Amino acid sequence: MTAQLIDGKSLAQDIRDGIGRDVQALEARTGVRPGLAVVLVGDDPASAVYVRNKKKACDTAGLYVADHHLSAETSQAELLTLVDRLNADPKVHGILVQLPLPAHIDGQAVLNAISPGKDVDGFHPYNIGRLVAGDPVFVPCTPKGVIRMIESTGEPLTGKQAVVVGRSNIVGKPVAMLLLHQHATVTMCHSRTKDLPAVCREADILVAAIGKPRFVTGDMVKAGAIVLDVGINRLDDGRLVGDVDFEPVRERAGWISPVPGGVGPMTIAMLLANTLEGAKRAATGEGVA
Ligand code: NDP
Repeated sequence: MTAQLIDGKSLAQDIRDGIGRDVQALEARTGVRPGLAVVLVGDDPASAVYVRNKKKACDTAGLYVADHHLSAETSQAELLTLVDRLNADPKVHGILVQLPLPAHIDGQAVLNAISPGKDVDGFHPYNIGRLVAGDPVFVPCTPKGVIRMIESTGEPLTGKQAVVVGRSNIVGKPVAMLLLHQHATVTMCHSRTKDLPAVCREADILVAAIGKPRFVTGDMVKAGAIVLDVGINRLDDGRLVGDVDFEPVRERAGWISPVPGGVGPMTIAMLLANTLEGAKRAATGEGVA
């Protein structure tokens, strides 16, 4: 069997086109133009690329972007002052602080300072709590994109065995929670899971969020499974690959997402979607916390 491709790039493009139309309609109806503040501290090259792509996507969809590129020497107090200002800025409906932050800054303290109603990354403890409770406000962008991609297969999730490899707060845990809310039976795996290949082989839905190139091999995948590859790994020769060994896994799976062109573009589309949601709530005066 050769798996069907879950084409994140084209799915993301459709979503972004729809968001562009919604942005125009919202502005025409209410005068509110969705706005995203993007905060980058320092000069990490990968972060600079992510931020550039996010800003470009906002521009194309007609969102307002407040761009804040701060020096690597910025103090935590200065960053918190900026976050406070953005929390109070009515033109800003979403605040994105690009991670990782320099080592002298307590990243969690900064994330905690973002108003939950503008926390489009969904990393604030309030939003994590609402997600766990099954009543989410902002769902983190990458997990939200993963679920949309799984839904795009048209396969029902109820009662399916889902295995999530990776338990980070930003990917693995929220993905597992969302799958649970969709009535999948979810197993979370990590570096201390015993006999990981055997656990993965049980999966009707397998999500890899590990950060190790081509870690999930063909023999770890059940025939016909839906395989979502969140990993982004750069090889020594400069190529980008996922956590899944694409070619052999494609021969076994029913559906597979590629890297690049899979979860990455969906993450950006979901950031725009969350900012639009924030702006709609602001336009109707709907509070969050
Ligand atoms: P983290 O490093 O925070 O988490 C990695 C997880 O993988 C941990 O839970 C770790 O287990 C687990 N792990 C590591 N080694 C093994 C192993 N040998 N067997 C089983 N589990 C293992 O990574 P992130 O969640 O932040 O990111 C994961 C990947 O997704 C990265 O490649 C990242 O670049 C990518 N990513 C992609 C995004 C996108 O937009 N496409 C967005 C965010 C991330 P333990 O907890 O035990 O250490």
